[in-house]
Amino acid sequence: MFCYQCEQTAGGTGCTKLGVCGKDEDIQSMQDTLLFGLKGIAAYAYHARELGAKDESVDAFMHEALFKTVTNVSFDPTQYLQMLLKCGEMNLKTMELLDKAHTQRFGNPVPTEVETGTKIGSGILITGHDLLDLYELLKQTDSKGVNVYTHGEMLPAHGYPELRKFKHLAGNYGGAWQEQKKEFNSFSGAILVNTNCVLIPPQNTYLDRLFTTGITGVSGATHIRDRDFSLVIKKAKLLPPLPEAPEKKVMTGFHHAAILGLADKIIGLVKSGKIRRFFLIGGCDGAKPGRNYYTEFAEKVPGDCVILTLACGKYRFNKLDFGYIEGIPRLIDIGQCNNAYSAIQVALALAKVFNCGVNDLPLSIVLSWFEQKAVAILLTLLYLGIKGMRVGPTAPAFISSGLLKILQEKFDLKLITSPDKDLSAILKS
Ligand code: SF4
Ligand code: SF4
Repeated sequence: MFCYQCEQTAGGTGCTKLGVCGKDEDIQSMQDTLLFGLKGIAAYAYHARELGAKDESVDAFMHEALFKTVTNVSFDPTQYLQMLLKCGEMNLKTMELLDKAHTQRFGNPVPTEVETGTKIGSGILITGHDLLDLYELLKQTDSKGVNVYTHGEMLPAHGYPELRKFKHLAGNYGGAWQEQKKEFNSFSGAILVNTNCVLIPPQNTYLDRLFTTGITGVSGATHIRDRDFSLVIKKAKLLPPLPEAPEKKVMTGFHHAAILGLADKIIGLVKSGKIRRFFLIGGCDGAKPGRNYYTEFAEKVPGDCVILTLACGKYRFNKLDFGYIEGIPRLIDIGQCNNAYSAIQVALALAKVFNCGVNDLPLSIVLSWFEQKAVAILLTLLYLGIKGMRVGPTAPAFISSGLLKILQEKFDLKLITSPDKDLSAILKS
């Protein structure tokens, strides 16, 4: 454990074995998990608030849960476990709030084929999660002779009617966040970063054409205020044109409204045995070794199974050809990490149709985590009572062995092993 939040911390540097206050590593781990879950909620609540949506009960929970972690408030593991599940409940509420705010403002996403690569002419690459920034950028670049490209978690934006109506939303460029130093260097246009997962540019590369806005900031980059993107547009027009360099097309836009529109067909295929199982392979991508597990896993999923995916982990396999089962794509991109809400709606709807619990569905969840929004989503899935999920590529460092044991006992939470071993265990179950 490590804690240095109060004055009595051991040796004036940090309690590492047992807190001077009596806190043990499992309580510390639960407090940290709660704090990281709160950070995830904060991100989604921030986006929702930017779109005018807020919820008093979420705000009140943030205060209560933060207070809970103050020195000498509670040393009761049962209370903390309840708080962790409540954090999951509040995150579900927040993701719902954000989903409604997105769809009310930009319409229900529709399945959309997205071009990748670049087109000849001036261009701006926008990366992050904030769809309102993209909307404003598209409005301000309309008829200005500048193409706009999405990067990373902005890919699902192409499915929203109010965003895809702009003809100069030209396509998607690059992959997940950890590739951005290489990709931003090769993208010769202007680059706008609007949420987390920004990296500090290496010296003498793209810093002079990098812009941040909203919550983001990088020393030396120009920060844009009040969504006035005129400096970004000016820069894009001064830079040399991007080349005509088309790449493979990808699909996105399978919001739960779109998937549920196909419900009758999907249910029929499940009943006739043509769809054997669904795999939700979702979450963050990252730079550490071991993440090719997710590519390999997706490749090895049998041809009579459908893969649902969301968040930037999908870049590990979204350009592979998975084909169709009687017109239903075998790879269904639900959207950003906050669209875990859509995945949950699909699972609940299927459970209702099949008159069973979510845990009884032919559905296996294999998650990749990198940062704190993934923690909030995991807590949501635990709050919903979902069992047998696999997470990786490694266990979070802040989860103590005691807390991991509790989660394994209560929720049958598993750490990933190898694609072959995990797939064979799932398919046998
Ligand atoms: S809260 Fe407890 S564990 Fe943390 S620094 Fe203070 S005494 Fe140590
Ligand atoms: S899914 Fe996670 S890692 Fe990926 S861009 Fe979103 S927040 Fe970052």
